[in-house]
Amino acid sequence: MIPGPFNYYRPATVADALKLLSTLGDEARPLAGGHSLVPMMKLRLATPEHLVDLHGVADLKGIRREGNTVVIGAMTTQHELLASDEIGRSLPILDETALLIADPQVRYRGTIGGNVANGDPGNDMPALMMALGASYRLEGKSGAREVAASEFYQGAYFTALEPGELLTSVAIPVPSAGHGYAYEKLKRKVGDYATAAAAVVLTMAGGKVATCKIALTNLSETPLLAEDAAKAVIGTSLDPATLKKAAAAAEAIMSPAADARGPVEYRKHVGGIMVMRALQRAAGRAS
Ligand code: FAD
Repeated sequence: MIPGPFNYYRPATVADALKLLSTLGDEARPLAGGHSLVPMMKLRLATPEHLVDLHGVADLKGIRREGNTVVIGAMTTQHELLASDEIGRSLPILDETALLIADPQVRYRGTIGGNVANGDPGNDMPALMMALGASYRLEGKSGAREVAASEFYQGAYFTALEPGELLTSVAIPVPSAGHGYAYEKLKRKVGDYATAAAAVVLTMAGGKVATCKIALTNLSETPLLAEDAAKAVIGTSLDPATLKKAAAAAEAIMSPAADARGPVEYRKHVGGIMVMRALQRAAGRAS
């Protein structure tokens, strides 16, 4: 399939990119790794008249530590996350999740900014960002604002981004030393999007869960924070009855589509299993 015609722009600064997006209007789209946008264009499901390629904007690249926060530029690729010592040390769940995205070819091009800005319920990073309490920096012609990942997703492909705004970086508070983490993803084959996936970040004290965040991928039109499921495990040692209670609380908020990955009941059932597995694996890693 061949995309429709479009004009191509390659700005060198965030200011120039924002100016282009504002001048070109609704028919302009930012282009990051292109691994979601270009397939949509080839299928003619997206027909932007103007592509503003962000690859020339050096300020959108890189990973840096600012106190107790890791700040990742939007154009940082999944491959660069995997290669980063800082990420390996501070945010190992990001490594675990990035490795479950597609294949090396996609990870060499796909960016964290494109993954979280796209609003595709099948993308893996958004739920993880919710579990980690991350926020996104959005810049537009009228200035910059920070939006929590948990407030960003409003519907499938519908986010808090205003027309002409760019997501320029992702800020992630570093979880405490000794935290446990796991991203469990069920997929039909290597390289596939999730049939169901769950991210867990927790801490343990005296053999009991002290804090816990659980988030879900591809089990609704948006990623979900499973708050009741997380509450159900606080103060417990994750005995089998508690795990089942947490899975049931998570299933209660799921509303997946019936599609080639399975009927609704199946996807909810395996979603609950992903929650139980992630909780157990995260607890096993906590110290
Ligand atoms: P692009 O495709 O360039 O952009 C995506 C959308 O976001 C576009 O609408 C674009 O305008 C907008 N956008 C991009 N950057 C910004 C920004 N900084 N500010 C505002 N808007 C922006 N992803 C997963 O999470 N899990 C998977 O299992 C998975 N499997 C895949 C398998 C295949 C075969 C392919 C081709 C892709 C797969 N993906 C998967 C998607 C991949 O991770 C994409 O790279 C990612 O979703 C989008 O990132 P991108 O950098 O390619 O963005």
